[in-house]
Amino acid sequence: MPPRVLIVTGASRGIGAATARLAGARGYAVCVNYVRNRDAAEQVVRDIETAGGRAVAVAADVSREADVVRLFQTAAEALGPPCGLVNNAGILETQMRVDQMEAARLERVFQANVVGAFLCAREAVRHMSTKHGGAGGAIVNVSSVAARTGSPGEYVDYAASKAAIDAMTIGLAQEVALEGIRVNAVRPGFIYTDIHASGGEPNRVDRVKAFVPMRRGGMPAEVAAAILWLLSDEASFTTGAFIDVAGGR
Ligand code: NAP
Repeated sequence: MPPRVLIVTGASRGIGAATARLAGARGYAVCVNYVRNRDAAEQVVRDIETAGGRAVAVAADVSREADVVRLFQTAAEALGPPCGLVNNAGILETQMRVDQMEAARLERVFQANVVGAFLCAREAVRHMSTKHGGAGGAIVNVSSVAARTGSPGEYVDYAASKAAIDAMTIGLAQEVALEGIRVNAVRPGFIYTDIHASGGEPNRVDRVKAFVPMRRGGMPAEVAAAILWLLSDEASFTTGAFIDVAGGR
């Protein structure tokens, strides 16, 4: 049987890279998407290949429609028809209050986190839905606990973009439930990755872990494990659902 093909957006670093590596180890052929950091993406591909798996790195900005269409076409040509999407690429910007936020910042955050996730979900449905001649599949959106907590004083815009992802997860899950596609989300809490540096506080997790019932930050691999379960046939009756990977927060 040919390997199942999985597209992971933002897979050069952090949660996406951990997800791509675990998926490779579980037998998926993995499309490792990135936007700028080619060396890191190629390292993830090498890691998967060294472990005996199959992968390809594809540069594409998920916030650009033409890039997303090309991403899915390239993945299908290189690896075969996709059966899964991990909608993981996401950004946040410098910590500030809402009364300091410029429109350009809001546009960047919503374009990458919301429009990007919608475009990737759209392409996944076009490739995987039985309505479009596909064989079905699964989408996992990477939301955030911020969608519930709102991230006051830090990035309410980012939190709101993740709340949009939660609503998309619920609506799209119902829209394609009879077309062989399950749509679920994980909501990570404070995870040790580079993303906190873009907020201006690289060591943020160590500051805020005091607010986590388990009193620690999470590792990308712990989020990847939940994502892989939602993608798998073990989750065959699970759609429109959320797994919080947040140490009880
Ligand atoms: P990260 O370490 O900053 O990595 C971000 C990844 O996304 C990189 O691979 C980056 O590619 C890629 N990317 C950024 N903008 C992109 C674009 N426009 N198109 C394609 N790829 C793009 O982030 P992370 O912490 O792993 O976060 C991954 C997801 O988890 C995000 O959606 C984030 O909101 C969510 N999340 C993270 C945490 C946390 O505490 N870390 C908590 C909750 C939710 P390059 O390497 O090429 O730049």
